Amino acid sequence: MSIKEYAQKLIDSDPLFKDIADQKETVWINSKYLPFDMVDAVCQLVVSDEDIADAERRLHRFAPYIKKCFPETAEDGGLIESPLREIDAMKKALEETYDAEIPGRLLLKMDSHLPIAGSVKARGGIYEVLKHAEDLALEHGMITEDDNYERFADDDMKEFFHKFTVQVGSTGNLGLSIGIMSAFLGFKVKVHMSADARQWKKDMLRSKGVDVIEYEDDYSAAVSEGRRQSDLDPTSYFVDDEYSVPLFLGYAVAAGRTKKQLDSMGISVDEDHPLILYVPCGVGGAPGGVCYGFKRLFGDNVHVFFCEPTLFPSVLLGMATDRYNEVSVNDFGLNEMSAADGLACASPSGFVVRIDRNLLSGDFTVKDAILFDYMRMLKNTEDIFIEPSSCAAFTAPVNLLKYEGMKAYLEKQGLTAEKLANSAQICWATGGRLVPDEIWDKYMNTYME
Ligand SMILES: *Cc1c(COP(=O)(O)O)cnc(C)c1O
Repeated sequence: MSIKEYAQKLIDSDPLFKDIADQKETVWINSKYLPFDMVDAVCQLVVSDEDIADAERRLHRFAPYIKKCFPETAEDGGLIESPLREIDAMKKALEETYDAEIPGRLLLKMDSHLPIAGSVKARGGIYEVLKHAEDLALEHGMITEDDNYERFADDDMKEFFHKFTVQVGSTGNLGLSIGIMSAFLGFKVKVHMSADARQWKKDMLRSKGVDVIEYEDDYSAAVSEGRRQSDLDPTSYFVDDEYSVPLFLGYAVAAGRTKKQLDSMGISVDEDHPLILYVPCGVGGAPGGVCYGFKRLFGDNVHVFFCEPTLFPSVLLGMATDRYNEVSVNDFGLNEMSAADGLACASPSGFVVRIDRNLLSGDFTVKDAILFDYMRMLKNTEDIFIEPSSCAAFTAPVNLLKYEGMKAYLEKQGLTAEKLANSAQICWATGGRLVPDEIWDKYMNTYME
């Protein structure tokens, strides 16, 4: 049976897939979610605690360089980190507007405001570029691990890196993060942008000397063409959003950093104080790595949900059909463009849908129109601006106690009303800081059906 025929069979026989094909908002609960103990050993074989610790150490080695070149990181000692903020006024507004009950505390992890790239991609993307730069510099004897990495700012280092190219396929934000960091180090950079990428992102990259190649086609096409071109050039390195382990590690580091922030806010995470995480999801790389890091750290005491546009539930479909990266939202008749440009990926990362298969709790879908309402609400209640894609996360707390599927999940996991009252829920704000003012004005005035 072809995937399309299989998709049709699912649509005809299962209300969940019918709702998805009808572009209705819903939640999918992962029937293969397992207690962490059962998955721990197998997962460690692929990405271990030591791998994550190694990534964190590498970021610390680069901290003096980052601090020197990007003074906005000085406060965090050259680490690229974002605030964790309680958003009580937003919580109240969500409850009133959507007649919802949101138990516990509602927090916003503001990766929307990460230094350098202004999106969650500043974690994985910048990490992978730094790792590649370090690998090259060590291999060619330009540096040793014990050197002060401020050395990376020296002119001869930039000249050295200019002999190499970095390439990436992107809907926008990954391109920004890879492009800005690679160009800064001295690399030649080619960013392959899909049709949905915003013009200002292309302009910003070109202003930094990045070669931006535009495609009429979607994200998957931009990635495969970028991968093909890069493979032809032995001096070129391709950051592969669909398979990259370094990207994944850069995202996974977020968990340990966030734990420190929770500690300092006096928020504990244990059996009686569950943590629930909602992460906007495109191809799955960023949320997949974040999810993985949190599960490794908090085990069964953290519950992670992804949030995707009703037009692009690619990770949901990859897992729910067990066809992984072979499935496309097009197979379910979803062929329109989404206003959530950062999330518009038709097929999921084959790596993430496999490694997170038993760790992810579920996946909420959200309509484009509501993203703009959430965005205005956050601006009006908390004076925080995040881009529409990022606002996908708010659908989860609003519907936590509404969807039947969610109620069943909470019951099965022993998440009683009492425990939920003690819970912390984190909406992951994934992008926004670099959005130009005139685009904000446009977003603020966007009202969709
Ligand atoms: C990239 C991105 C995401 C999701 O990351 P994926 O790795 O594509 O799943 C979410 N929000 C924004 C704003 C992004 O740029």
